[in-house]
Amino acid sequence: MSHIYRQAKYPNHPLMEKHAEERKIENNPFPESIARKEAPKIPDIPEHEVVRHFNRLSQMNFGIDNGLYPLGSCTMKYNPKYTEDLAASEEVNDIHPYMHEDFIKGTLQIMYELQEMLAEIGGMHSVTLQPAAGAQGELTGLMIIDEYHKKNGESHRNEVILPDTAHGTNPATVSMLGYKLVEIPSKDGCVDLEALEEAANENTAGFMLTNPNTLGLFEEGVIEIAEIIHDVGGLLYYDGANLNAIMGKTKPGKMNFDIMHFNLHKTFSTPHGGGGPGAGPVGVTEELSSYLPVPIVKKEEEKYCLDYDLENTIGRVKGFYGNWSVLLKAYSYIIREGCDGLTDISERAVLNSNYLKARLEGTLDLPYRSLRKHEFVMSGNPLNEKGLKTVDLAKRLLDYGFHAPTVYFPLIVDEALMIEPTETERKETLDDFAEIIEEIMSEDPKMVKGAPYNTAVGRVDETKAARKPIISFRMKEER
Ligand SMILES: *Cc1c(COP(=O)(O)O)cnc(C)c1O
Repeated sequence: MSHIYRQAKYPNHPLMEKHAEERKIENNPFPESIARKEAPKIPDIPEHEVVRHFNRLSQMNFGIDNGLYPLGSCTMKYNPKYTEDLAASEEVNDIHPYMHEDFIKGTLQIMYELQEMLAEIGGMHSVTLQPAAGAQGELTGLMIIDEYHKKNGESHRNEVILPDTAHGTNPATVSMLGYKLVEIPSKDGCVDLEALEEAANENTAGFMLTNPNTLGLFEEGVIEIAEIIHDVGGLLYYDGANLNAIMGKTKPGKMNFDIMHFNLHKTFSTPHGGGGPGAGPVGVTEELSSYLPVPIVKKEEEKYCLDYDLENTIGRVKGFYGNWSVLLKAYSYIIREGCDGLTDISERAVLNSNYLKARLEGTLDLPYRSLRKHEFVMSGNPLNEKGLKTVDLAKRLLDYGFHAPTVYFPLIVDEALMIEPTETERKETLDDFAEIIEEIMSEDPKMVKGAPYNTAVGRVDETKAARKPIISFRMKEER
């Protein structure tokens, strides 16, 4: 397809003429009736103006290629560019989901191997690559839980339990499926086992947890947690957003979780955010493997093929087989790192997090126990004395070329700043970040309140900016 498009758009170079002849593609393959009658109304400006325009636009934003992006819970690690090269290659781009599976054996092999590698990393039996994000993985997982209980004649199970540290997508998923949400309080930042025991009963469909949790604390009671839930006949869902902390060290399967999602755009370094494609594969235990969405890729006598024949399948959750180019990027990242590399990644992520935490102790407040995994949550309460809030510190950081950490989450920490440096940052960068925070604490509070000053737009109305964003020059003019 892309050949035809290219050929139609540009006249053939003489050298290409022969090539085109061989491929039997004419200069204009479209019927006259749909051909354009008038020239398109596009600005007629020189190349350098176009380059300047787009460069300027790119500088108005902030990305991981600009600087430290310590957005807690999001694992904004640097995305190496070799994965982009691979995803942009012709072999990858010139395939189409409608091609017969006999023509895409290599693609199927990659998908199969990715399924297998993720299953190994998560300690799960089988994996679907379909869901497009962690949130859709949650939805898929909960649909599986739903179907499982129905098949077992237990459709009365209508409650899902969550800890109060849960990420917002967890309660959203629960209510999308019409479950009753049962939230339990934390004790010292971790699941309160007594509260869990009280909440779990014959109506419990499942319990969702991320481990380490959103405070960066490892839930040491996880085996007891699994017992409590399994004893009442519920299933355990692992929110895999924090996998970067434990990869190669332990597995959700070992903690007795039944279902999990992976955020390839977090742990496995595929680009992230801005509404672009992501991927949230879901892994399940052997008992649940027949419930996965179809198709999944299977290997039969050394041949890779699509399997639509799963007995209890919940059906499709996404067009075709998932976001293929994202899957390929994660695949190549895992292959290049290998077991040792992945373990090293989580060790460095945890080291960086604890180093930065130690640097910031004394400048900001640190609630809960001391050792953290890949992220930690501080409180901006010391800012109060200056009449400032966490949001002011976050905005001022932008002036220094740092993306702000996640703020005001998790909800159980007052004036929360959730910081996740990731393994890709150097000690020097972490030192700079800590020093800038110290400096901001000593700046004139009145000035800090007005930050940011060096960004494309100044302080915006947080609610309006999300609900009624002004995203183009024209929209700004019309206002
Ligand atoms: C990011 C995140 C999710 C949702 O994942 P998306 O891929 O953004 O949909 C769920 N839970 C936690 C803890 C997260 O950090």
